[in-house]
This record gives sequence, C-alpha cells and structure tokens, in this order.
Amino acid sequence: MNELQELYQQIILDHNRNPKNFGPLDDATQQANGYNPLCGDKVKVYLMVKDGIVEDIRFEGSGCAISKASASVMTTVIKGKTVEEAKEMFESFQQMITSSPQEDVDLDAFGKLAVFAGVREFPSRVKCAGLPWHALTSALDGGEEVSTE
Ligand code: ZN
Repeated sequence: MNELQELYQQIILDHNRNPKNFGPLDDATQQANGYNPLCGDKVKVYLMVKDGIVEDIRFEGSGCAISKASASVMTTVIKGKTVEEAKEMFESFQQMITSSPQEDVDLDAFGKLAVFAGVREFPSRVKCAGLPWHALTSALDGGEEVSTE
C-alpha cells in the first residue's frame, strides 16, 4: 500500500468511528432509505431543503465502514449546495467509483471524495460507497426507498 492509500484508509476509518452529521433531522423536508442487500448496508438520509438549497443534511443507519464513511463525507460536501449541484456531484462521484481502476482520477477535483477512488479495486464495495448517494438522490427527487439491486 502506498502512502496516499494509507492516508485514505485512515480517513475512512475515522469517519466510520466518528461519523459527521449522524442522527435524525427533526425538521427534515425530505428523506429516503437506501438498502444494499449485497452487504446489508442500510442508510437513511434526511434533508432540509429551502429555496433550492440543501440547508441541512443528516443520516442514520448501520452498515460497513465504507458505506458509513461515504455517508459521513457526503453530508459534509453536500451541506450548503444547491439541489442541482448535489445531483451533479452524485453523477460525477458515481462515474468516478464505477470507472476502471486504471483510469486516472482528478483527485484535486474530488477533494474529500477522492478517498473513495480506492473502492474501484473492489467491485462489491462500489455499491457500499454509492449507497448513501443513491439515497440522497432519491430524497432530492421526493422518493422514499432505494435499493442498489
Ligand atoms: Zn457495505
């Protein structure tokens, strides 16, 4: 493992241990549940959207370190973004984690999300990392349930 991968793994473990924005959001305007049957990950994403801006976002759930860390990092990058920006970030994140491991990732452009580029080496983990984002998109679209299968 090179130094960068070790650093990324550390960030994922830290977010898993001390997730940001974890717990219910009482004045949520939208919410959705995500389920990844392959791994057993469950995540519920709460949003407070006002005037097209995601003013607050929180999540609850249980799952593996990757899904929990992904949800935690996601809440920190989505908070304060417009609904459109949030959807664009989902698209580019999804594209990044499903790209070939040989493909270069613009790590700077992805910022904190770049730590998940490593899941490309593990196809079964791609769904773990993508799950909270699917739940986010579903919540933005006013949906309730979403499954990776
Ligand atoms: Zn998982």
